Amino acid sequence: MIKAFKYRLYPNTAQVRELEIMLETHRRLYNECLAQRKERYETAQESVKYTQQSAWFKSARGANDWYARLNFSSAQATMRRLDKAFQAFFRRIKTGDKPGYPRFKARGRFDSWTYPAHGDGARLLDGKLRLQHIGVVRVRQHRPAQGTIKTVQIKIEAGKWFVIASCEIGDAPPPRTEDTAVGIDIGLEHFLSTDQGEQVDNPRYQKEALRRLRVVGRAVSRKKKGSRNRGKAVSKLRSIHARVSNKRRDHHHKVARDFVSRYAFIAAESLTVKNMVRNRRLSRSISDAGWSQFLNILRAKAESAGSVFVEVPPQGTSQACSGCGAVVRKALSVRQHRCPECGLSLQRDVNAARNILARGQARMEPVWLNVAH
Ligand SMILES: [Zn+2]
Repeated sequence: MIKAFKYRLYPNTAQVRELEIMLETHRRLYNECLAQRKERYETAQESVKYTQQSAWFKSARGANDWYARLNFSSAQATMRRLDKAFQAFFRRIKTGDKPGYPRFKARGRFDSWTYPAHGDGARLLDGKLRLQHIGVVRVRQHRPAQGTIKTVQIKIEAGKWFVIASCEIGDAPPPRTEDTAVGIDIGLEHFLSTDQGEQVDNPRYQKEALRRLRVVGRAVSRKKKGSRNRGKAVSKLRSIHARVSNKRRDHHHKVARDFVSRYAFIAAESLTVKNMVRNRRLSRSISDAGWSQFLNILRAKAESAGSVFVEVPPQGTSQACSGCGAVVRKALSVRQHRCPECGLSLQRDVNAARNILARGQARMEPVWLNVAH
């Protein structure tokens, strides 16, 4: 099973220039190879093979400095890409479809190149991407790639650079058959609440660390810019941040492991932090909880254990009654759900978690029924 992981790249100015040159060189190679094929087809009705172009390129790079700077395998991948376009063209001729001769790629219409073997010209490791002739580019690896990286693609989208790692993640695990399902509500009071009333508390260390961060932060701003003491205070600040984020990740892994071990079906609300953070007073506790990181970890663990993981839109899950569906409007400060229609009284978050579970199961019905029966 192949799974792709896409991460944003943060190249420095010099690297941006190099990336642009590399993309442009790949584009020119693509177009030059297309021109060769076009000419041969028009003059002799013959097709040029990929292997012929690969051999031509080998000698061409001796005379062309731009081509010489391309990683050989990645250049081959670009020529293969053209070859694929031609194969599709010939296929369409055979089937009588509109043939659509492969086109020259204008600037801006060619947005990527590929390294077909990880480690040959490109290596992604620990938040860094090492590219031949470019150097080490910073990567924002919001969630780790799983399995073994096979190919690496570099892509530009709307002026932003990305790396896409295609990974072999092994056989998909067999789906679990136990009838164990859980709905999870994102809490403010608690880290999370389940439909069964289980609650995991918010990790408190960040609150404690926050106090220290404030003290050290003030120390930083008191010290003179560029001074040695300021440098010391800044690195202290950084190390507190790093410690907090490590602890938080550990906590997320622990909770996710526990849930995946117990449940074959997990429904959680898809996180729209933007909506929640609008209330500024809440924003601190939300970022404390680091929900999106937790959901990523939970999803990855569920997938590799054969559990079903669904995210459902959270709209209305706290207002609707999980007993009868009536809408029971309540402010955020009201922590208890009391339904005037059916008399259900539940903790607010637990009611929401029940709605989330129901929504997730409704959404997954066909699959879920197969799994359950
Ligand atoms: Zn009700």
